[in-house]
Amino acid sequence: MSFLKPGDKVLGLKLDHGGHLSHGHPVNFSGMLYDFVQYEVDSETGRINMDMVAEIAEKEKPKMIVAGYSAYSREIEWEKFKEIADGVGAFTFADIAHTAGLIAGGQMDNPVPFFDVVSTTTHKTLRGPRGAIIMCKEKFAKQIDRTVFPGMQGGPHEHIIASKAVAFKEALKPEFADYAAQVIKNAKALAAELMHLGYKIISDGTDNHLMVVDMASRGVDGREVEEILDKVGISASRSTIPNDPNPPMRPSGLRLGTPAITTRGMEESDMKEIADWIDAAIKNKDNKNELNKIKEEVKEFCLRFPMPGV
Ligand SMILES: *Cc1c(COP(=O)(O)O)cnc(C)c1O
Repeated sequence: MSFLKPGDKVLGLKLDHGGHLSHGHPVNFSGMLYDFVQYEVDSETGRINMDMVAEIAEKEKPKMIVAGYSAYSREIEWEKFKEIADGVGAFTFADIAHTAGLIAGGQMDNPVPFFDVVSTTTHKTLRGPRGAIIMCKEKFAKQIDRTVFPGMQGGPHEHIIASKAVAFKEALKPEFADYAAQVIKNAKALAAELMHLGYKIISDGTDNHLMVVDMASRGVDGREVEEILDKVGISASRSTIPNDPNPPMRPSGLRLGTPAITTRGMEESDMKEIADWIDAAIKNKDNKNELNKIKEEVKEFCLRFPMPGV
């Protein structure tokens, strides 16, 4: 609302390719208010092809370009996005909700030097309270402040502001960089183990904390696997895959992430066991005894990694 008028054109990643509801889905305010056009990931590589982004931007001439995603496991070429946006006179908006902690921990590329405005949640890899922040070039600060208040919000939530301060202080510590590095090491190890077991990972691996597993070749869908894993004490999220043939509530993919297990102290060597449990649970999805056995093993394993501070 600080940068656009209703009806203005915005370029964002297609939602079933890893984008977020707030990047133009028709049921979301973003899709209702703005005219979203979309780029996609390359169907061969599962990665964003910047030549394709440039081509669409030149054709569509959007007022704003959005990058930063919910289910994309690869590094993002921020500087290239900025170049493309400058070429068509578009604002640049980075939504780093998922990867902010990995960026703050110095483990992934940072859009802040390049982009006009960067927003993030504080409750994902940044490991703070549920909430959000907006960062921007100084020249946009006033108009963004005005949009927040009186534009959209009432009084400030001081208790959340205080807990954000605690989270930012933690993120400044050297240990947080170690944490961010370990999150990525664990994700790479988990992806490698799953691929070793024959699972297809979108883009064949990960550069960050997450991966999307294509379950279609296993004869199960993402919702089914989410429910099976819940039964054995493993939390994961159903996810669309690029060009998903299945409907959104029964998508083909499963999204797995390593931030929480890394906080509990799990390392690369623990990922094999987790991958094996995921595989065993899927293979024994109709065998209650076997699922209960896996659940007990998962529980015993987790007790070796107590929650910090508990
Ligand atoms: C999670 C997320 C958000 C914010 O969603 P919440 O429901 O507030 O957690 C915004 N953008 C992206 C890309 C996200 O992944």
